[in-house]
Amino acid sequence: MRIHADFECGNIRFLKEEGNEIFLQNEMRGTKRESYYYWAFCVEGAAGKKLTFRLDHEWVGPYGAAVSHDLVNWHWSESSLDGAAFTYEFAQGEDRVYFAHDLLYTPSRLYKTAEDLGLKTETFCKTLKGRDVPCIKIGEGSKNVILSSRHHACESSGSYVLEGMIREYVQNPIEDTSLLVVPIVDYDGVFEGEQGKDRDPHDHNRDYIVDSIYPETRAIMDYAKDRDITYAIDFHAPTHRLGRSDHVYIVRKFPEFADRFDRFSGLLKKYCGGEAMDYSMKYDVPPNTGWNKDDTPTFSTFFNLRPECKLALTLEVTHYGTDDNKVTADRLINTGRAFCKALDEFAKNCII
Ligand SMILES: [Zn+2]
Repeated sequence: MRIHADFECGNIRFLKEEGNEIFLQNEMRGTKRESYYYWAFCVEGAAGKKLTFRLDHEWVGPYGAAVSHDLVNWHWSESSLDGAAFTYEFAQGEDRVYFAHDLLYTPSRLYKTAEDLGLKTETFCKTLKGRDVPCIKIGEGSKNVILSSRHHACESSGSYVLEGMIREYVQNPIEDTSLLVVPIVDYDGVFEGEQGKDRDPHDHNRDYIVDSIYPETRAIMDYAKDRDITYAIDFHAPTHRLGRSDHVYIVRKFPEFADRFDRFSGLLKKYCGGEAMDYSMKYDVPPNTGWNKDDTPTFSTFFNLRPECKLALTLEVTHYGTDDNKVTADRLINTGRAFCKALDEFAKNCII
């Protein structure tokens, strides 16, 4: 049997094996935190065995591990033991299985999705390690829209929602708009399976400053230098779980923009639910509460401060949801479709 992280987005450290129990630790690469939730590993050669995988912290969700055989299709193992462990019974012939904290969204999936939709990926910039950061340009119109996700590498839910938004836009474009999509901002972090939240000295979503240190955020700011940006949306996932983190919510900025956030929230609620995740504005983070300060140099702050921008926000999308509003890949994709419909209606009736 081999347990490893030798694949796109992999992250695990093997500690020991005792009988049918495997002890593991996730790697704190790309974060200042002592412990954070992201892990992803592969088990090969365990066909026919029933094993328990135990992490050294409570980083296993209520529905167990996310399970995949191809790094594209994911489902829950439904076998959480105590918040730190899960079991898995490998069928005969089930020789390679991927397990992760949540439904992974790999760079390969992004490229494949773009190809399937007939969209061209271009190089937006190079990462600090020299990799190409992809971007996708869609539509033509006088209103510029920027969509992004993975300012925090570990937050896959945001990527599924962004994919749904792109799929809906391709079918039903928002009139007179031209989209720049930067789907994997912290590309090195995502590719290498890093945590990516609270990097040292700061992470990508605290880098919208004059002396920015990441080429990706610099490229987004440069792109916006030459153009008016009408809408700017950044898709995230909250932390591991519990409380607000089990829901979909908007991080609101600037009390003076309450009206535009209220109107968009109402539209998002209208299109969410059912095949998409539920959304209610009661979980939104109000401006200037807790960590959400108007002067925190995030993507959303940067665009809210631009006078031509009519809506700039962070959407946070839970990794797990709740029993009556549970995350599946399809429901996340449909949440993105709902988001696109809401933005379309917002744009049609915009009086700002
Ligand atoms: Zn985030």
